[in-house]
Amino acid sequence: MNDFRDVIITVLYMVSAVLFIRGIKLLGKADTARKGNGLSAVGMLIAVITVLFEKQVVAAGLNSYLLIAAAMIVGSIIGAVWAKKVEMTGMPQLVALFNGFGGLSSLLVALAQYANYRTLGADAQPLEGITMGLTVAIGAIAFTGSVVAWGKLSGKMFKKSVTIPAKNALNAVLAIVGLAGICLYAFSGSNTQLGFIGMIAVTAAFLILGFTMVVTIGGGDMPVIISLLNAFSGLAAAFAGLALNNSVLVVSGCLVGTSGLILTLIMCKAMNRTLYALLFGSFGASKSKSAAGSGKEPKSMSVEDAYLILEAASSVVFIPGYGMAVAQAQHAVKELCDKLEENGAEVSFAIHPVAGRMPGHMNVLLAEANVPYEQLKTADEMNPQMPNTDVAIVIGANDVVNPSAQTDESSPLYGMPIINAYEARTVFVLKRGKGAGFSGVENPLFTNDNTIMIYGDAKQTVSSLVSEFEDK
Ligand code: NDP
Repeated sequence: MNDFRDVIITVLYMVSAVLFIRGIKLLGKADTARKGNGLSAVGMLIAVITVLFEKQVVAAGLNSYLLIAAAMIVGSIIGAVWAKKVEMTGMPQLVALFNGFGGLSSLLVALAQYANYRTLGADAQPLEGITMGLTVAIGAIAFTGSVVAWGKLSGKMFKKSVTIPAKNALNAVLAIVGLAGICLYAFSGSNTQLGFIGMIAVTAAFLILGFTMVVTIGGGDMPVIISLLNAFSGLAAAFAGLALNNSVLVVSGCLVGTSGLILTLIMCKAMNRTLYALLFGSFGASKSKSAAGSGKEPKSMSVEDAYLILEAASSVVFIPGYGMAVAQAQHAVKELCDKLEENGAEVSFAIHPVAGRMPGHMNVLLAEANVPYEQLKTADEMNPQMPNTDVAIVIGANDVVNPSAQTDESSPLYGMPIINAYEARTVFVLKRGKGAGFSGVENPLFTNDNTIMIYGDAKQTVSSLVSEFEDK
């Protein structure tokens, strides 16, 4: 009977693992993403129900079910209300926080396992002890690192990049203390004083390391670190799965961990950074010359005058950024794109990989507005065309078109590939004021001779341009 039950449990775990893998594959394309999400959710439901029927949970009696049910109901209500209420622009920080909670759960699972061993007077084998220690370590980094990322993305904490004197030395000491803690725990056992000290050391050292590692990362480099934290939360879950001997947790953790790692490498390439330089280099402190410091004032123009230039343009490139998401201007942008095409202009969209606040942020918004996928071009595809472009319309983008990334070696953005908007014959920059972008670096593009600012909310400005086309 028990054998039959074990077979059923193994089969159900395999089914949910296959659903996760299929789900993540479907998430790779915009038109199948919804289905992929649904499949993964079904996989997760099967996994959760199967875990509940596994003997360790059953053995604890009905009370444990009630506790789990209560936790699931409370968590689901908070999660659903939160996700429903959050503005589209608040999504990135919410995702960062969810990431952190993933790390925290793995950390708590390992600590609960440790507490269990102490209560039972039992012990983990050294290898299991190391696995538990690694779960605590990676979960702790993912937790505090993600909380700092949440603070930075939401603008609630650490808006200005922080510098920690002798950061690398401090991080090295923390890592050594934490790793020593893992060894101390693994080889002294759960029921000894030394094992207790080891567990405290690894938890504390890696919680602090998550903070010190992320707090010093400069604004423009955040996408890479966010992907890395995502990978960490997956790895922590995979280690927790090993510690609990739960295969589906290992599979799902590895899926999150490896996809996060792949995204980290893609982001590193997009930002022209190495992970080593990012974590151990000195990015962050802004020493760049400011546009205001150059003494030049940006030129601005009314929508009516801008229309006259657009009406005569035969090639137009839209360069969207975070401000388009804030203004929710994507539908108006699509309308303007249609008007320009009806007027005979060739229109493209240049999408920078880190534009907005999430990977693929601009692609998602433009897909929602039914902009054809073929019209979305990468920086590599668009930059050679830029000198032959009549008008580049920068909609709420800033860092991703900042030429100081190419010209100012002291800029924190230096080396990051940008969309060469400055090479277009005329550049319209649609934004509300002269404010800097996420990195806090001033943008010399705004004072270039061929740049014209059109101040105001991006949606209002674009809608007014559409009205001009309709009225004429
Ligand atoms: P930026 O953050 O550089 O600039 C956005 C601009 O939008 C601001 O300068 C702001 O200027 C303008 N803006 C805001 N609201 C409006 C509005 N309603 N109408 C018009 N304009 C508006 O955005 P980019 O997309 O150029 O660059 C993304 C930045 O975010 C990069 O530094 C990237 O590294 C970072 N990042 C990206 C992540 C990702 O995964 N994509 C994750 C984390 C960080 P003003 O206030 O004057 O209107």
